[in-house]
Amino acid sequence: MADESFDIRRVVVVGAGTMGHGIAQVAAQAGFEVVLNDVSAAAVAKGLAQLRANLDGGVAKGKLTVEARDAALQRVQGEPDLRSAAALADLLIEAVPERLDLKRQVFGRAAETAPAMTIFATNTSSIPLRAMADALPRPERFVGLHFFNPVHIQSLLEVVQAAQTSAATVELALAFARRLGKTPIVVRDVAGFASSRLGLALGLEAMRMLEEGVASAADIDTAMKLGYRHPMGPLELTDLVGLDVRLGIAETLAREIDGVRFAPPQVLRDLVAAGRLGRKTGAGFYEYPDGAGRPA
Ligand code: NAD
Repeated sequence: MADESFDIRRVVVVGAGTMGHGIAQVAAQAGFEVVLNDVSAAAVAKGLAQLRANLDGGVAKGKLTVEARDAALQRVQGEPDLRSAAALADLLIEAVPERLDLKRQVFGRAAETAPAMTIFATNTSSIPLRAMADALPRPERFVGLHFFNPVHIQSLLEVVQAAQTSAATVELALAFARRLGKTPIVVRDVAGFASSRLGLALGLEAMRMLEEGVASAADIDTAMKLGYRHPMGPLELTDLVGLDVRLGIAETLAREIDGVRFAPPQVLRDLVAAGRLGRKTGAGFYEYPDGAGRPA
């Protein structure tokens, strides 16, 4: 059982990419000490630069004071060595690519130096926690913390309770979510949880419609934006999430839930093979000539 009086003060984020730098940012803004880890000093520096750019953007828009930005930045440090980072963790959140072997490896290595009280969390979009839990010595202290992209804007946080996750760990996760200003929901440990499964169903169908020539990508997206009041269309959203990330989720759900319903469409496989991973590479279903900007 987790100790309910246990106080999370230091948060270690493993993986400083699309999600990791955002998780580090919101944790620092909420007053936690944050350690950001990635595979190399350069990758950590890139994540820190994105985090800083987000905070600068907040200041430019008048949403954040200069003092609040500086205070948040002071609470974040980079640490490219996973074992050193894990030794500091009250809460360790992994946000490495959506590959089970990689996530298990990260948890196994982090557990070598993490204190016994550390709460471990995964930001996986789709992989059931039960497939990772045995990489950790204390699976009762393991929970899903599924953030949404962009992390500093999206208010939902899906808390995934696996069979082994203790009630006290779930309570700590819920308290953490609220301190970040997020709205948590609690979901059972079923592949794709609540959000990814529904979101992906729509995304995959949009891709099949594109393959069948039902309409252009822009018109399919417009259909959902204007017809159903979705803030983004399913293909635009796939570009934001990352085509590789969505392919990984589709493969997991095809394996775990239904091989026909969640089979990745060929267009998704082809774009990923061509390196068109969405906004982060400057092209996906759309082109982004100015980096992370608007579709051309
Ligand atoms: P990403 O590719 O943008 O970033 C992953 C980062 O992990 C990279 O910086 C990479 O260098 C680093 N990394 C790889 N191996 C590592 C290791 N062994 N140790 C430390 N760092 C390592 O991926 P992302 O989009 O941030 O996704 C990360 C996780 O979050 C995935 O599980 C994904 O399913 C999930 N997720 C993604 C989104 C999204 O919209 N992109 C939303 C919710 C959840």
